[in-house]
Amino acid sequence: MPWRVLLQRNRAWAERMQAERPGFFAALARQQSPRYMWIGCSDSRVPANQITGLEPGEVFVHRNVANVVVPSDLNCLAAVQYAVDVLRIEHLMVVGHYGCGGVQAALLQQRVGLADNWLRHVRDVAERHWDLLQRLPEAQRLDALCELNVIEQVRHVAQSTVLQDAWARGQAVAVHGWVYGLHDGLLHDLQVSVDGHGQEVEAVYAQACAAVARRAAVAAAHA
Ligand SMILES: [Zn+2]
Repeated sequence: MPWRVLLQRNRAWAERMQAERPGFFAALARQQSPRYMWIGCSDSRVPANQITGLEPGEVFVHRNVANVVVPSDLNCLAAVQYAVDVLRIEHLMVVGHYGCGGVQAALLQQRVGLADNWLRHVRDVAERHWDLLQRLPEAQRLDALCELNVIEQVRHVAQSTVLQDAWARGQAVAVHGWVYGLHDGLLHDLQVSVDGHGQEVEAVYAQACAAVARRAAVAAAHA
């Protein structure tokens, strides 16, 4: 498809929106007030708005290869800080997906180039959970690591100064971990939600990891 077609499609879309919802763009131009933030993989098959049925203005998005959150990544942390402190989003979802190429490269230690350095963060997750992963049939390891990577990144978000400060001042904001199935278009909740009220991040993290191990054991038994 020639690239100029994208511009033509954009004009058609904007005209259609304006015809169906007069004032839609004018209202959005004045302010955004999304309730949600999405931290997802850059993979073209996992578009935040379409998957969740959200419109422009409804979800603040940060995406990178393999949906990684590390405290030294100012790009990601600045987006989280803006979303929490300024936009005052209520829910932040870390969303991974099965069959993630970045997670697979980290798992199999495939060299892909500069991204190897970024994927080292996912490799660290694999090494932390190696006891579990090595017990699984190879076919199940990637799915399990995709889930574990999300759970690990949820913990990183929850431990960030941005969320810790928000919770300390009583702000209502929750962090969740989801994984998306490319094969069926469905999102799955990894039950790792934390909102700063009571649940210890470490306890929720440990339960979510144990659930991955249980699911993987069941899947392995049926394989
Ligand atoms: Zn991916």
